Amino acid sequence: MIIAIDGPAAAGKGTIAVKLARHYGLNHLDTGLLYRAIGRLMADQGLDLDDPVAAGAVARALKPADLQNAELRGREAGELASRVAVHADVRAALVDFQRDFARTPPGAVLDGRDIGTAICPDADVKIFVTASPEVRARRRTDELNAKGRDVPYERILAEILERDERDSHRSAAPLRQADDAVRLDTTALDAEAAFAAAIAIVEAGHD
Ligand code: C5P
Repeated sequence: MIIAIDGPAAAGKGTIAVKLARHYGLNHLDTGLLYRAIGRLMADQGLDLDDPVAAGAVARALKPADLQNAELRGREAGELASRVAVHADVRAALVDFQRDFARTPPGAVLDGRDIGTAICPDADVKIFVTASPEVRARRRTDELNAKGRDVPYERILAEILERDERDSHRSAAPLRQADDAVRLDTTALDAEAAFAAAIAIVEAGHD
């Protein structure tokens, strides 16, 4: 079984994807990590993130070890990722890896922005996880505060809106709900309820 989970930043798709993978005994790929690693590598090498040729070369040379960096989960890497993710060459370089991962038995849950629309258009189940920008910003701010990082809510909200705008309006595989995806709005749901709703969607959606 292949489950495609897409949606904007901080909507809860990562948490849902991890739990679904565990529940169904599937592999899990957080595809954002691929773009984060490329952005990080380019910044570390002093390369211009807006240069599609340089970005494509870094993407083609990406190795699994490049993903093993705890810093990749942070806010800065998310911002770098969204800048390199606009390049069609970068996206093309990552397609085969993601499809091979999805097809490897026993199947997988992939979360990202274009899994249901571009990477796995034939996925058994597609879920588009979303929530209001204000609730997403509040969750992110609370997460950071819990780690002792004092970042203002307004700044996180502005970053989220900027990322939504860039991810939704790029020409290469923009963030959008696939026609056959089920929308899961987590605005009023806690993690437990969001997971239960995701399970119900999977159970209803495959045979
Ligand atoms: O999901 P995450 O916050 O890790 O993604 C970081 C950025 O990587 C996104 O804002 C988006 O620009 C890009 N991305 C993408 N396609 C994916 C996953 C992530 O364009 N499948």
